[in-house]
Amino acid sequence: MHIHKHEVIIVGAGGAGLMAALYASQGGADVAVISKLYPTRSHTGAALGGIGAALGNMEEDKPLWHAYDTVKGGDYLADQDAAKVLAEEAVAAVVELEHMGLPYDRNENGRISQRRFGGHTSNFGEKPVRRACHSADRTGHMILQTLYQQCIKNNARFFDEFHVIDLIVNNGVACGVVAVQLSTGDMHIFHGKAIFFATGGWGRVWQITSNAHSLTGDGAAICFRRGVPMQDMEFYQFHPTGLYGLGVLLTEGIRGEGGVLINGKGERFMEKYAPKIKDLASRDVVSRSIYMELRAGNGINGKNYVYLDIRPETVNRFLAEAGETRRIDTSTVIKALAETLDLCRTYAGVDPLTQPMPIQPTAHYAMGGIPTNIDTEVILDENKTVMRGLYAAGECACVSAHGANRLGTNSLVDLVVFGRRGGMVMANYVKGVDWTPLPDKPTAEIEAEFNRIRNSKGKLKTAELRNKMQQVMMDKVGVFRKGSEITEAVEDVKALTQEYMTNITIDDRGFKFNTDLLEAWELGNLLELAHVTAVSAVARTESRGAHSREDFPNRDDDQWMVHTLAKRCTDDLYPAEVPAMELNHKKAVDTSLADLDPRFLPKERTY
Ligand SMILES: Cc1cc2nc3c(=O)[nH]c(=O)nc-3n(C[C@H](O)[C@H](O)[C@H](O)COP(=O)(O)OP(=O)(O)OC[C@H]3O[C@@H](n4cnc5c(N)ncnc54)[C@H](O)[C@@H]3O)c2cc1C
Repeated sequence: MHIHKHEVIIVGAGGAGLMAALYASQGGADVAVISKLYPTRSHTGAALGGIGAALGNMEEDKPLWHAYDTVKGGDYLADQDAAKVLAEEAVAAVVELEHMGLPYDRNENGRISQRRFGGHTSNFGEKPVRRACHSADRTGHMILQTLYQQCIKNNARFFDEFHVIDLIVNNGVACGVVAVQLSTGDMHIFHGKAIFFATGGWGRVWQITSNAHSLTGDGAAICFRRGVPMQDMEFYQFHPTGLYGLGVLLTEGIRGEGGVLINGKGERFMEKYAPKIKDLASRDVVSRSIYMELRAGNGINGKNYVYLDIRPETVNRFLAEAGETRRIDTSTVIKALAETLDLCRTYAGVDPLTQPMPIQPTAHYAMGGIPTNIDTEVILDENKTVMRGLYAAGECACVSAHGANRLGTNSLVDLVVFGRRGGMVMANYVKGVDWTPLPDKPTAEIEAEFNRIRNSKGKLKTAELRNKMQQVMMDKVGVFRKGSEITEAVEDVKALTQEYMTNITIDDRGFKFNTDLLEAWELGNLLELAHVTAVSAVARTESRGAHSREDFPNRDDDQWMVHTLAKRCTDDLYPAEVPAMELNHKKAVDTSLADLDPRFLPKERTY
């Protein structure tokens, strides 16, 4: 067995992991970063549109307005202490990235250029504001490259193409992880004082998704199996504009630049649903509006899609109708949305300069996940009891800055703000604590599961089972939900999990580069998270943010201004039967900003 010892172990090399690695190593800690992908291939690199910060470079803006939009966009379920940190620290983090060399686009004064994005407004919802800082439409790519270079410069040690498969806990203290090295199939133990999960999302639970194949929720599932509850799993965001049939994301930046949604009758239908900010309403609102149009038979040629149109003549017509003086031309579009043009031409054979883009909502972002406090410490219950040694940030975590629905650009903010905080907190923590020894046989349980999959003699291939799960979740736990259908989904997912445990097969039984084996193990994580998502969604009998129940169409603040904590009712890592789930709805939402300003109190959300 290979054993490595580093004070801080970071799992995941996307924006959150790299930011934490950078600040922990600058704080003097000995840092190892473990990543199943080569770091710059992390999904953060696919983020297009921008990172929000109230710099006020284009027009007046304030962090408090940003916090307000975040809370309102989250349908008031966001913890307001976290939303405040997010909005305030975004400003310094964005500027620090600039100083590290991130090549943002510039405005005419040479300052960082900013564009509009859904749900971002000035003066408490008055009008859309330019808040998204961007580097053309490849902002995430630039963040990732910049941070990776800085981490190398600061001597963080990288273990690329190592899959973390278990968390090691001794006497309630997190003290390491187990990983498989892809090239050899060997198991490695990483012994640490602080373990930081930054493993990203799990869009692959659904059939149509913007998420990369690697987004299988490993970190969340690993922590869940080791007794950490999953918070607010019923809230999963569908982004309104995925390329039809494929789910490939078309950034909200397109609408930020003036792009409009058009139905089969040629109408700009968002005027009906969000008269004030129209196509730039928050994502849950726009996704539901699209579904409503499709149900009313207003898809393009009766099909299940609508158009997103950025052709200058269309955009300019609507700008003129709205009384705006701004106009766009082909060169603006080419400069601001180069990647988008490429994506559409390559994947859909559509040229957005001359044709409208066919779109449908696509599974995009997990608001829920591993619960943490604002210092990224993982918490175990409604009293916010901290699990020592364990930290998380980024999409796998739920500090709950986003509540029931995340605003565009706020994920990149979350990564850099909470990644940075986590790095600093861990650097301090490891200075003051002793090493927790490794327990006996730390790899026994996970080795047994890997042996089971490697030697399985079932009939079902991973891909078949995964497709079935994705179809169930798309049909029954998607944009609109009904109690009866979600209940069916719970049973379906349980049956599929049982099949997974007894009837799976793989082709490659070897050790080197065995992606077949790892993919099968990843499916186990997806099933685990699909199950907890569906169970959490049945229980919440209201509609809020991304969780829209047709049988409970209203938001119910009296009963449901609380977070969901879901726990597995077993200590077994891989039990023989699908474990029951226990839900706790006692964790209150932090409303500390409402004490300062009554506008932060929940009210009906209109755009
Ligand atoms: C197409 C697309 C466009 C987007 N555009 C925007 C945008 O414009 N603005 C915005 O704010 N947000 C955007 N988002 C959302 C945002 O990009 C993601 O939420 C964010 O990048 C997640 O970052 P992360 O650091 O949490 O994880 P990721 O960047 O997903 O990285 C996960 C890391 O974990 C590692 N990992 C995972 N499992 C394991 C394991 N078992 N063992 C070892 N390592 C593991 C991976 O190798 C990877 O390094 C977009 C998302 C998508 C999909």
